[in-house]
Amino acid sequence: MAYLEYEYFRKVWQYKLINYMISKRPEKKQEYLKLFKTKSDGFYINAKSRMKSARGAARYIGRYLARPAIAEYRIISYDGEKVTFWYKSHETNEKVVEVLEAERFIGKLLMHIPPKYFKMVRAYGIYAGSIRVKVKRCFGLLKYIKSGYKAIECTLEEYWKKEPKKLTYRELMIRNFSKDPFRCKKCGEIMELWEIWQRKYGYIYELGKC
Ligand SMILES: [Zn+2]
Repeated sequence: MAYLEYEYFRKVWQYKLINYMISKRPEKKQEYLKLFKTKSDGFYINAKSRMKSARGAARYIGRYLARPAIAEYRIISYDGEKVTFWYKSHETNEKVVEVLEAERFIGKLLMHIPPKYFKMVRAYGIYAGSIRVKVKRCFGLLKYIKSGYKAIECTLEEYWKKEPKKLTYRELMIRNFSKDPFRCKKCGEIMELWEIWQRKYGYIYELGKC
């Protein structure tokens, strides 16, 4: 994740915006260009308070990814037409109560929903999708070599080309949470999958019928 210097961000925003304004209204070019001199610190951006450090920025972005734009408890009331909610002002840091028509409120909320297929999170470096598989294989190879080439019955080349095994739901649960979902919490016995019922499709698995 990139961390952007606040001062730099302000200047970039100013530069982009002024150029955009000039492209829209070239006759006002001279007037717009003056803004570089009169507003030498750049234009206002709302980032200062939460973006003091890379850690703060990471926390802020992480929160944005995991939570909706407005927490439910900030919606005070809805009378069938108007929504009353509160927010903290970025300038004064004080609570502000606002009343909006329901449709306007929804419109403001919708702006925060990314378009279909838009990636909110991108992985770089060794976490990038294509590299991650290779890294995984390298770790596999290391294990293989450490075991004195005994763990797997094939050559190094064959092993490298092998598709990495996908872990099952049960294996993932054991690896990540140290919990075996198939083990009974009461007696510790391994349970048998009896049936799966899904709201839309009904019974999608029944023991002995599949
Ligand atoms: Zn049991």
